[in-house]
Amino acid sequence: MDKYCKISKKCGGCAYQGIPYEEQLRKKETQVRKLLSDICPVRPIMGMEEPYHYRNKVHAAFARKHDGKVISGVYEEGTHRIVPVESCLIEDEKADAIIGTVRSLVNPFRIRIYNEDSGYGLLRHVMVRRGFQSGQILVVLVLASPILPAKNNFVKALRKEHPEITSIVLNVNAKRTSMVLGERNIVLYGKGYIEDTLCGKTFRISPQSFYQVNPVQTEKLYGKAVELAGLTGKERVIDAYCGIGTIGLIASGRAKEVIGVELNRDAVKDAIYNARINGIKNAKFYAGDAGEFMTVMAAEGEKADVLFMDPPRAGSGEAFLSSAVKLGPEKIIYISCNPETLARDLRYLKKKKYEVKEAWPVDCFAWTNHVESIVLLSKLKSNKLKHIDVELEMDELDLTAAEKKATYQEIKDYVMEHSGLKVSSLYIAQVKGKCGIIERENYNKAKSEDAKQSQCPAEKEAAIREALKFYGMI
Ligand code: SAH
Repeated sequence: MDKYCKISKKCGGCAYQGIPYEEQLRKKETQVRKLLSDICPVRPIMGMEEPYHYRNKVHAAFARKHDGKVISGVYEEGTHRIVPVESCLIEDEKADAIIGTVRSLVNPFRIRIYNEDSGYGLLRHVMVRRGFQSGQILVVLVLASPILPAKNNFVKALRKEHPEITSIVLNVNAKRTSMVLGERNIVLYGKGYIEDTLCGKTFRISPQSFYQVNPVQTEKLYGKAVELAGLTGKERVIDAYCGIGTIGLIASGRAKEVIGVELNRDAVKDAIYNARINGIKNAKFYAGDAGEFMTVMAAEGEKADVLFMDPPRAGSGEAFLSSAVKLGPEKIIYISCNPETLARDLRYLKKKKYEVKEAWPVDCFAWTNHVESIVLLSKLKSNKLKHIDVELEMDELDLTAAEKKATYQEIKDYVMEHSGLKVSSLYIAQVKGKCGIIERENYNKAKSEDAKQSQCPAEKEAAIREALKFYGMI
């Protein structure tokens, strides 16, 4: 019997609540199959055995109600109202318990809660990360100022309730922004990061670094990715969008050389450190935009044998892909968390002399409508190229049409990823209206003349416009 969450409608995090898990898997597989129908065969989805409490990173926003009660949870969709969350079916239970303890310590320690409207107050968010294999736990207190009164006693009280906590960090975020973490970290206790083991390697994960949230499925995901690469020990491998170096370092034992590139400097530092603690000597990591990095490599006439690429939801785009093609890897392993941008990028590579062999959907996000996929591409031998040239014209037409459209969900995801803001369909419709994009559905019209509708705030409007620009809609 599936478990049921009472607050799922308000929280909005689990779009597949109420749908049996097996059916969720079928829906995700069908979605990938549909999007890639003209591109490649899609293998059966790899599902979870225990689809609960898998999220190893939990984050909660804090607020104080009028009666003085402290609540923590997630923002209700399209608002800055907090939906209180005390326990969650997909989050790590220990992390939820720690956040509950922080909530209970706020009043005794007289900690002021940050008020988004006035900009006054101290505590904004709490983030907890737990190493699935190591059991290490990092608690990040996001405060508007670097000074936490009675910090030593606070740390003591928190550790007394949860002796398993291995590190506590104060993250300073003084900006009027919806981004959760600021840039500065002050370690209050422990090492300031956690370590975890994945596919037999140890990884340091700093507060700001990306790390897959579902550790059990991630092992399946990376295991399959490395298997598809078919490495023999002679290859020069690129790990693009490498985060803390996971995929490249896992593959390094079967390759001659690994080169990783990643935008987030903290993650790159983690990757370099991770190579060292695992005794890996054939891996190098660079900080920078993956597209620019590939362009420079291609311009310098560099070559690569295998390319792993694992971009964020927006996908990769032409600057990266055109240079990737110039580098000419025999195999590309594309790991994607957004099948729509994946399809777009695969169409491009298909035009550029790559054969898209097969796709493997993996469920890393049970109860949500998100799905991860791995795709294997291989470079066509020159005698097959003629056939591809004929296909090219049709694909080109498809690509332009596809690029002009983005679903509401894609726009929401883009905005969330790039500005950390949750935006409603209503707001998107309002901005589309302002930009002269005609709406079929009347999201932007009030039902009756005197009905009042909330208007999209300027900050969100700017973020939505950016997404519309990205998708070539304005
Ligand atoms: N492969 C890693 C990380 C994947 S998530 C893992 O599995 O853990 C995507 C990563 O791409 C994030 O770490 C993000 O910081 C990084 N990223 C986003 N935009 C980028 C860009 N333009 N160039 C390089 N890296 C980028």
